[in-house]
Amino acid sequence: MTEPLLLAIDVRPGRIVLATVHRHRVIDTRRLEREGCDDAARTAAGIALLRERAPGPIVGLAGVWRPEARLGLADPRGFIALLEDVGARTALPTSWLPHGAALALGEWSRSQVEGPLAALALDVGVAGGVVLDGRAFAPLRLDLGHVSVDPDGLKCACGGRGCLHTYASETAMQLLARDVESSLELPSPADRQQVMGSHLAARQAEKVRSTHVLIARAGRAMGLAAGHLAEAFGVVEVRVRGRHPDQWRVLSATAAKVAADVYGERAPRLVAAESSEDAFFVGAVAAHS
Ligand SMILES: [Zn+2]
Repeated sequence: MTEPLLLAIDVRPGRIVLATVHRHRVIDTRRLEREGCDDAARTAAGIALLRERAPGPIVGLAGVWRPEARLGLADPRGFIALLEDVGARTALPTSWLPHGAALALGEWSRSQVEGPLAALALDVGVAGGVVLDGRAFAPLRLDLGHVSVDPDGLKCACGGRGCLHTYASETAMQLLARDVESSLELPSPADRQQVMGSHLAARQAEKVRSTHVLIARAGRAMGLAAGHLAEAFGVVEVRVRGRHPDQWRVLSATAAKVAADVYGERAPRLVAAESSEDAFFVGAVAAHS
């Protein structure tokens, strides 16, 4: 195998992951713990090692940028500076994509989907992108975590209202769960003994109820966002990747029902993403050429 290969780089708060990608497949990886300094020098050394092991010449470096979760498309300058520094040290041309767009392109690269596809990553924040005609659509301007599903909805850190992020992100669900918890009244010490049994039962019931409320709200927001994507871009399939395997499983039924109720036949398919972490690398590399 002597055809050219590309490298992908995923910069996270505690670590940097490098991946050698051949066509749509990750064939080698290297993980570097970040120590707060010399990131560029250590990354360049990691790349030198991957180059030695690679079955062909490595011709480019494609970055996956993970914006600050709460702020949507936050400032990428620190990331770009690191990428350019590494590019200069390794003599590799660089490019980059936000991780939502990279996920969408990575999923699309491996799919048989005819027509526009969207992907959503449910994490501490929500991110996502749309692929139109095989390309990430406006990856630096379109952040699906901040698609509004309710103009009168909750205020978001981005300045908007009713963003998907404010309903379906882990951060949002934790905040909403805390609100529900703190609204519960605890019994006084005198009453405690007497009511403890019934209180615990009530509390448990309330917890179950609040979990249902959270899931319903998140699932509904996902369904509405999917419908918006079908209307705006003709998206036929939305792929969802949760950080926890069960996350999408519990939300999917509500999301699909809401999308079908509101958008009828125009509702896109809502499915779990096929790829693991690989999709981010494959997508970033696919955008490079
Ligand atoms: Zn927002």
